Amino acid sequence: MYRRETATIMETLQNLIGGRWEEPAGDDVVTVVNPATEEPFARFRPGSAEDVDRAVAGAGAAQPEWAALTVARRVEHLHAWADTIAAHAAELAELECREMGKPVGVGQSFIAGAVAGLKAAADQALTYPFTETVTGPGAAPDTSTGAGPAGERTDIVRHPLGVTAVITPWNFPVVMVLGALGPLLAAGNTVVVKPSERSPVSTVRLFELAAATGLPPGVLNLVLGDARTGAALTEHEEVRLVHFTGSVGAGRAVGTATGRRLSRSVLELGGKDPVVIDAGVDPVATAQAVAFGAFINTGQICTSMERIYVHERIADEFVEALVAAAGTFAVGDGLDPATVLGPLVDARQRDTVRRHVEDAVHKGATVRAGGAVPERPGYFYPATVLTGVDDTMLVMTEETFGPVAPVAVVSSFEEGLARAATSRYGLAATVYTDDPGHIAAAARLPVGVVWVNQWQSGGPERLYEPARDSGMGATGARAAYDAATRPAAVHIAAAAPVAGR
Ligand code: NAD
Repeated sequence: MYRRETATIMETLQNLIGGRWEEPAGDDVVTVVNPATEEPFARFRPGSAEDVDRAVAGAGAAQPEWAALTVARRVEHLHAWADTIAAHAAELAELECREMGKPVGVGQSFIAGAVAGLKAAADQALTYPFTETVTGPGAAPDTSTGAGPAGERTDIVRHPLGVTAVITPWNFPVVMVLGALGPLLAAGNTVVVKPSERSPVSTVRLFELAAATGLPPGVLNLVLGDARTGAALTEHEEVRLVHFTGSVGAGRAVGTATGRRLSRSVLELGGKDPVVIDAGVDPVATAQAVAFGAFINTGQICTSMERIYVHERIADEFVEALVAAAGTFAVGDGLDPATVLGPLVDARQRDTVRRHVEDAVHKGATVRAGGAVPERPGYFYPATVLTGVDDTMLVMTEETFGPVAPVAVVSSFEEGLARAATSRYGLAATVYTDDPGHIAAAARLPVGVVWVNQWQSGGPERLYEPARDSGMGATGARAAYDAATRPAAVHIAAAAPVAGR
């Protein structure tokens, strides 16, 4: 049984500003509800513009000193924090389970991945060219034309941006915060984080652990709140970059606000990821992989498999195996180790899932597994397989963000790819095929990530930019550091002019 251990993990959560835990100034109250029991779990007062101001000021005050540390020292700080998080992974996973439903085992494995990712992303700072001397045509003036003094060189110096903001969704509370922070902090920026109003508790704990491991006060600041708090943060003049992960609609608002004041944003938004399955693959093993990709985290992953196009030659066997696999996703409270499929985050999210399935059935789809809300407390929905879907149904056009696998049968791999490419989203896609020509064709899909015969692999070297409505701003590898810094060109002559010459 989880016991609240510290002053801040109380029923009332607090902001962390300039190293001090404080009560938000806002006057209404948000209650975080455990989606498995529908019982209140925590509450907080959403941060006001005044709280945001204070947090940005706290981050601004800490930034020069943080940037003055050596890169190696900043990376050491991040490693110390990462090690502490790893030691508390079980506790953090339990908090995530209570605030948004993720089964504890699932949470723990993702947190382990995020800790490794934080360390790897921080380590990239050790080889990132914060100062780089460029040579080659145009780097130094042509002395034969007298365009400049001989021996001139050009340095590109990448400065931290200053104060940055990270706004996260509820589906991976710990992972999303850690995924954004490595390059921002290692590059010398300070950060104000606003977690989702639906899952702030594990983030509060993350920040307690940061303070306990000696991260200097003000480097990481926390403002709890909802869309209003997020809007105040994105509109703040002193915030030089907003790293936003969330829905397309909110992402558009963030991009508009940062664009208006000529600041940067990195927007990682929603998806409706397709899977295209070729005739030659093993239908049973592929169905098991697709069940995992469609149902894990109760389908609440931006890159969940949400549209499945399977070749007609193996479609029957594939669907049969997918239905069997759906039956192994035991529904229940994520605190129970037997649970594979926790609840959806809240009633609103479950209603979206129910509405999409009902729309498909109304338009002629067949429910082969799941498809009905169970009679029990909690926001549960079973692993659901639909067949006979077409590309006009909501399950094929809008992000469902639930445990629903809609299957369309195609007469060729090319037809599957063509239909996969019709979405307004462009986050990621997965294909199962052994045909090199088909793999080459899949690589041309209008998406940021293509997985071939596997799903979700990738490390800090993965460089990508979401396509279409799924976002903008390249991330991963060196691009994350490029986004976290501002390059300045410094042209240096061999010598200063000497008097009398
Ligand atoms: P959401 O857009 O409702 O909220 C995300 C965050 O933005 C929250 O902290 C929220 O308070 C804040 N917010 C909302 N409106 C805002 C505004 N106008 N200005 C500033 N901040 C605002 O999204 P959600 O429902 O929490 O998360 C689910 C969505 O996130 C899905 O669409 C999912 O695909 C997407 N997502 C994308 C990725 C990715 O890497 N591309 C990863 C995870 C989730």
